[in-house]
Amino acid sequence: MPQGRIVKALAGYYYVQDSDTLWQCRARGVFRKKGITPLVGDEVMFETNGTEGTVTEVITRTSELVRPPIANIDQAILVFSLAEPAFNPQLLDKFLVHTEAAGVDAVICLTKADLLAGPEEVERILKRCEAIGYPVIVTSSKGKHGIEDIRAYLAGHLSVFAGQSGVGKSSLLNALFSELQLETAPISQKLGRGKHTTRHVELIHLPEGGWVADTPGFSSLDFQSIEANELGLYFKEMRAMLGECKFRGCLHVNEPGCSVRAAVEAGEIQSTRYKHYLDFLQEIKDRKPRY
Ligand code: GDP
Ligand code: ZN
Repeated sequence: MPQGRIVKALAGYYYVQDSDTLWQCRARGVFRKKGITPLVGDEVMFETNGTEGTVTEVITRTSELVRPPIANIDQAILVFSLAEPAFNPQLLDKFLVHTEAAGVDAVICLTKADLLAGPEEVERILKRCEAIGYPVIVTSSKGKHGIEDIRAYLAGHLSVFAGQSGVGKSSLLNALFSELQLETAPISQKLGRGKHTTRHVELIHLPEGGWVADTPGFSSLDFQSIEANELGLYFKEMRAMLGECKFRGCLHVNEPGCSVRAAVEAGEIQSTRYKHYLDFLQEIKDRKPRY
């Protein structure tokens, strides 16, 4: 039975891309009974009569985002501007917590380098980001610089771009996709890109292999589903110290024998990262119960 990936869902149809054809498919009624809704990003088995298809099976997902609804994302490109709006380290740490909680790798992309006074300023923020332990890409001049670096990270992954409004996500996606449209015109035409239809998530296949969601992800950033005792797992430098504190379940606030606090005092963990951890912990403790 043929296998492919759902790249678009629209008006009751799933569009499944196999190695060379885009199939318009319906889903079997059995999914409704089982309560499974196929998602964009799903790897599926399907049957076809040569023109149309039927999705018969969804292969187990490795991840599932709710907003936007995409399955099997394995990488988020977190887009932050260096200026206009000013670089916001607390928001970056919040996005990093969300990508860690979703089990997705993060790549930090710093945009608008052309707006900063000089390279020293870029270097300072770049170093701070790299020290956390994630790859960092710097872009500037409306996406013309750094695009190749992003492409190298996208190859072989299923990626989503995320970041607050105005940081330059659309500019980056446009720069990426305008190159792509030249190289992958047949696929783009088949998907009907460029038409101003209702907004829906769509995956774009990259010539290097891999997929990119054409819409920004992680629009909602509250800590609703994260518990206080998990938060430390989503700061990778704290996770690396798991089990080193004196007390099990240490929240690294003021417990005696806390290795995380010792590492902050020794300068091994950035004090701003620790401060943001405490801010988020408070946010979780203060949240209203969900009904
Ligand atoms: P989005 O809301 O994250 O999708 O951001 P946009 O891509 O729409 O960009 C927001 C604004 O920033 C627009 O006015 C862009 O022209 C501008 N912009 C985007 N990238 C750059 C850049 O690299 N340098 C400069 N100077 N401006 C940029
Ligand atoms: Zn501790």
